[in-house]
Amino acid sequence: MAESGLLERIRALPLAPETRQGAALREYGRDEGFARRGRRSAPDAVVVPRTVEEVQAVVRLAAELGTPIVPWGTGSSLEGQGLALHGGITLDMREMNRLRRLLIDDFQVEVDAGITHPELNRMLRPHGVFFPPNPGAPATIGGMIGNNSSGSRAVKYGVTRDHVVALEVVLADGSLVRLGTRASKTSSGYDLVDLFVGSEGTLGIVTGAVLRVSPTPTVERGLVARFDTVDAAAEVVRAVLGIGVRPASLELLENSVAPVLAESSPLQPRPVATLLVACDGGEEAAVDSEIGAVTEVVAEFGGEIEATTRDQFRSIMSAREQLGPAVVRATGMPTLKLVDIAVPLSAFPDAVAFTRGVLDAAGLTGHVFGHAGDGNLHVLIATDSRDDAHWARASEAADEIVLGALALEGTITGEHGIGAGKRHLLRAEHGGAVDVMMAIKRSLDPKGIMNPGKILPDDASVGVGS
Ligand SMILES: Cc1cc2nc3c(=O)[nH]c(=O)nc-3n(C[C@H](O)[C@H](O)[C@H](O)COP(=O)(O)OP(=O)(O)OC[C@H]3O[C@@H](n4cnc5c(N)ncnc54)[C@H](O)[C@@H]3O)c2cc1C
Repeated sequence: MAESGLLERIRALPLAPETRQGAALREYGRDEGFARRGRRSAPDAVVVPRTVEEVQAVVRLAAELGTPIVPWGTGSSLEGQGLALHGGITLDMREMNRLRRLLIDDFQVEVDAGITHPELNRMLRPHGVFFPPNPGAPATIGGMIGNNSSGSRAVKYGVTRDHVVALEVVLADGSLVRLGTRASKTSSGYDLVDLFVGSEGTLGIVTGAVLRVSPTPTVERGLVARFDTVDAAAEVVRAVLGIGVRPASLELLENSVAPVLAESSPLQPRPVATLLVACDGGEEAAVDSEIGAVTEVVAEFGGEIEATTRDQFRSIMSAREQLGPAVVRATGMPTLKLVDIAVPLSAFPDAVAFTRGVLDAAGLTGHVFGHAGDGNLHVLIATDSRDDAHWARASEAADEIVLGALALEGTITGEHGIGAGKRHLLRAEHGGAVDVMMAIKRSLDPKGIMNPGKILPDDASVGVGS
């Protein structure tokens, strides 16, 4: 349907939700990774709902017209998840941003899906609890649920999935369902909450969620450890977890990363493997004892502690969150291809070595780092999406690294999701189970209107996205 006709139909809805058009649509044609390939990605219309009823009305209209509908959080995805690759309606959820209920006695909160995690944590601060998952961008809860995001604290606190207790979802026909229970345990029926977490808006629109929260740590300590080899650093990760210490973060940087990070932080630029370890808790003595135990393990494996003040450590950790722009500055290459894989803990050194081998063989500059406590490895490949040959070389290397993770019994994505960028690799990981996913998709979204062209590969032939 032409853009103007679609807008007229939306504006004629009884609830008349807010719409955006014209130049404003361009914002919705960008994400932080996939969009750089320059494919069509802007929607025909953007709707900004403020109530669940408005979401339902727009989804019903999309179902009637057979028009794609794509939920949008802040658009910080890295694999094109929020792009309207088949046009249609983008549903910007950011105005649905209330903290609905504080349920502190149960360590739970109920929120609208459009609230961001920094805003939620700002509101929770006076109540002594926080929502731990922390992707590097100020993402919405709906987007984090969509991608099952995590971040640097997952090793201790878990990923978004571990914090979703119950969901309120608008299905592809506009009906509203509530999934899950606020009870601490249940054996009641299929686990539909888990099905929707990580479904990237392809099965329904999350309008509300009950989330698990944790007591806010009042004490935080960090240390920087340097090693001659990545293997030694990875051994320390396993040994630390093996003695029962659960740091809040266990970040590993391969040799090439420290000099880049040193440009924007107090980290020494020595090109050796680096571990950033953060411990937190409610009591100084307990946290100090954890840091002491980690220090002993580091020494045992021949590592060296780099003296840092608390402020310096914080500054190194926040520079680590901004590694992408630092790599762009250091390499002079305008585009980054960010690879995300996860492997069993014991395979982490092999994954780093394999990745380094692929990059060197392809003659590419790449920086390898990761949430080592989860076996989650990232690679920033410096490239230029305007240079077809270079981009193709970077893309081939990225796919080789991802398939290498499968050979190590890992997964093609630890936290960034499948989106449009990795769906060609889904079968390599899941084989015939992709057919089960297709059957679920067909059953919940028979017209294929929910975020088409994401997660499922082309052979899925589901509705408009095929
Ligand atoms: C600098 C940077 C650092 C990052 N670091 C990390 C990191 O450390 N760890 C990590 O896991 N990720 C990271 N990310 C990726 C990204 O921030 C996360 O995936 C984030 O959770 C996406 O949230 P969003 O609100 O931007 O969602 P969007 O990108 O807008 O949407 C994400 C997906 O969810 C769907 N969606 C959005 N809202 C809803 C809803 N209400 N109902 C159903 N589906 C919905 C969308 O259609 C899309 O498929 C990083 C990104 C950047 C740019």
